[in-house]
Amino acid sequence: MSDIIQLLPDHVANQIAAGEVVQRPASVVKELLENAIDAGATSITLLLKDAGKTLVQVIDNGKGMSTTDARLCFERHATSKIKDAKDLFNLNTKGFRGEALASIAAIAHVELKTRQHNEEVGTAIKIEGSSVISQDVVSTAKGTSLAVKNLFYNIPARRNFLKSDTVETRHIIDEFQRVAMAHPDIAFQLHHNGNEVYHLKESNLRKRIVAIFGNKMNEKLVPLDEQTDIMKIRGFVAKPSYAKKKRGEQFFFVNDRFIKSSYLNHAVNSAFDGLLENGYHPTYFIYFDVPPNTIDINIHPTKTEVKFDNEKALYAILRATVKHSLGQYSVAPVLDFNR
Ligand code: ADP
Ligand code: MG
Repeated sequence: MSDIIQLLPDHVANQIAAGEVVQRPASVVKELLENAIDAGATSITLLLKDAGKTLVQVIDNGKGMSTTDARLCFERHATSKIKDAKDLFNLNTKGFRGEALASIAAIAHVELKTRQHNEEVGTAIKIEGSSVISQDVVSTAKGTSLAVKNLFYNIPARRNFLKSDTVETRHIIDEFQRVAMAHPDIAFQLHHNGNEVYHLKESNLRKRIVAIFGNKMNEKLVPLDEQTDIMKIRGFVAKPSYAKKKRGEQFFFVNDRFIKSSYLNHAVNSAFDGLLENGYHPTYFIYFDVPPNTIDINIHPTKTEVKFDNEKALYAILRATVKHSLGQYSVAPVLDFNR
């Protein structure tokens, strides 16, 4: 008899996990922005070079990390966000897997600088191939800066698989917009190769959507506002006359997390029944606030799918809410700028 099974070393396990978590620079952007939000940041800056292939850096003014945590955050399954399995069913944070930073550190050069608000100095850590190569005490701004350089430097196949800068940038902008739309009360900036792409001030939802999609969007938006004992629905649909041939701006958020749902999309479409010509798609920005223990977001590492306990009720309420708002709009246009 001979035994052949071994436990994989951490850096190999991390590289494998990275295959699921990090598909492209936009995945890094999403993970870092979400970490900044979970850290309570009110201002977040994203810096990119070469569509994120050379650099993705997120700078936040959130709570920062202690020196010990600054090392630990790169370990697999290291998280401050959940403590045991029951917490999985009551999540109030974007993250919870403790996998993102470990994965990223396995496939890129990472430089972390972080300082907690009550500390005089901060910690700087550099990582290559999952190993810490330097650690220093530094003077740095309150909060955290995480720079991810040369993504997939050690996995040429993945690096070659990346698309053109135009396509990769598009994916990043999509992620950035979704996060910025989910958090209008946070200021966001985006710079690409030294040029400012977005400078979004702290704002309300309508103004944030208009800041992203342009002034013309303002007159198109019909507000939604419905509260039941199982959920709250808010946000906007665009008037039917502004529907699009291409499926363009369609966004669902659940507890401030962007999700995809063909089921709920169907509910919206059916509320527009008879109002849209064939082949036209409604534009919508719809936000659900539900008790965290009534959803399961643990379905996939990238977490854009959610399972609802009350899916059927949600469908019916959504459909009725959209119908009602559209009906109100056709009687008396709503132009309230402060919602
Ligand atoms: P998760 O977000 O699922 O917990 P991550 O690997 O993304 O896992 O991050 C690991 C931990 O590192 C987080 O739980 C958090 O405690 C800490 N962390 C990561 N990014 C930041 C940040 N920008 N500010 C403060 N703490 C952070
Ligand atoms: Mg995270």
